[in-house]
Amino acid sequence: METAKYYELDVLNEDHQTFRNELASINKDGSRKWVYAQESSGRLTTRRSIVAYTLLALLIATPFVRIHGNPLMLLNVIERKFIVLGVVFWPQDFYLVVLSLLTFIVSIGVFTSLLGRIWCGWACPQTIFLEFVFRKIEFIIEGNARQQIALDKAPMSGTKFARKALKHGIFLTLSWMICNLFLSYIIGTDALWSIITDPPSQHASGLTAMIVFSGLFYGVFARFREQACVVACPYGRFMSALVDPDTIAVTYDFKRGEPRHKPTKADKDGTNTAPRGDCIDCGQCVVVCPTAIDIRNGIQLECVNCTACIDACDSVMTKMKKPTGLIRYASSNGVKHGQANRFNTRVKAYIGVWLILLMVVTTLFLRRPEMEAIIMRQPGTLFQKVGDDNIANFYTLQLINKTFIPKTAEIRVLEPQGATLTPLGDYQSVSPQNVQHGRFFVAIPKAKLNGAYNTIRLGVFMNGNLIKENTTTFLAPEK
Ligand code: SF4
Ligand code: SF4
Repeated sequence: METAKYYELDVLNEDHQTFRNELASINKDGSRKWVYAQESSGRLTTRRSIVAYTLLALLIATPFVRIHGNPLMLLNVIERKFIVLGVVFWPQDFYLVVLSLLTFIVSIGVFTSLLGRIWCGWACPQTIFLEFVFRKIEFIIEGNARQQIALDKAPMSGTKFARKALKHGIFLTLSWMICNLFLSYIIGTDALWSIITDPPSQHASGLTAMIVFSGLFYGVFARFREQACVVACPYGRFMSALVDPDTIAVTYDFKRGEPRHKPTKADKDGTNTAPRGDCIDCGQCVVVCPTAIDIRNGIQLECVNCTACIDACDSVMTKMKKPTGLIRYASSNGVKHGQANRFNTRVKAYIGVWLILLMVVTTLFLRRPEMEAIIMRQPGTLFQKVGDDNIANFYTLQLINKTFIPKTAEIRVLEPQGATLTPLGDYQSVSPQNVQHGRFFVAIPKAKLNGAYNTIRLGVFMNGNLIKENTTTFLAPEK
């Protein structure tokens, strides 16, 4: 069996207390200690692979899926146009975006309190791209962790140059594709295709952005790697404020594992009477760790809950004919006391806030009007006399059709009685996903007016149903 001494990350020989003071992937002088993580395999790695490749397929397919000619998802912050699951959100719906974001942040809090960094290990794009795309390609081209170390230490040769060039060439191509993929979520696939196929002079800024972001992705996946999770990711920082001893996370069962020991001849003979834990100090859980930590030191900020150490240790335990699960999903209290209070007061409070937000967002979403109308008195105008008995005011109108079918709207005066509304032009028909601008004037008999400033109530009707009321001012001469 391979042990950790073969690897550069000889964490097991270090003082076990130093892990709190320094990062395992940074040398004492501050330079980078490259992590050569061994490829993991096992029950959880297989499950994570299925989840990762399913999510990748969804991520790649989503911008190409169309509903009524619109993409399934578009987050066009430049033109302030957002489409989520085929539903178009306009700037007028911004409150829904803010509330949805708030609900998403609180849901991360709820899941982190209950299940630790489950997002990082199973669903984060950084982990999925790094572990299931880039590192897989690295294993194919440069071999396993030990072969990678040998290759890096070897002097430059034709073979080394060819392998490095092939790897980095593929990494650069993949980074460019990832950049295009994320860009298609922002500008849509049609606009992206135009940038790629039109002469470069027509899209200088778009192409510059693509080159810069492709370079950034390459830097993250080829060089920065686990440092993104360890030192850059803000979620990793506030995660530590959310977990407590009852949070389920990848945990080493120190009660069962300690005192750790390397198997001796006396163990095989059965003559050893010293206390023995199940951990044989083989270091397999460390050499597979992509952030280079030793989970036996307890829960740590650097742990992204990737489960590689669980699979590695399960394989060791199986070979040693001992029960698996020395490292497993468990809470600190679960390991210490055999049980944990998963739904403690803090978690219940998070869930309560989360459910309230979820209900509010769902209700607002379902009650979101299909048609929006903005009515204002025309700026810069006062009033006009119409004959001897009536006063008229001009109004501007914006009708926003948020649906995928044409809509017809009608504006009526609800109050005061006796007022008449005259449309100026044909603004009533609004095509799908469009904004229609229009003007109309309202004439009111003098007898119904009360001084210079009056209030009128207008109603927006669709198919004969009142969908919105609007109260605005009506100017008239002083009495
Ligand atoms: S916890 Fe498991 S994998 Fe890690 S050193 Fe102990 S026996 Fe080996
Ligand atoms: S300690 Fe285990 S779960 Fe955490 S990052 Fe390392 S290998 Fe993954």
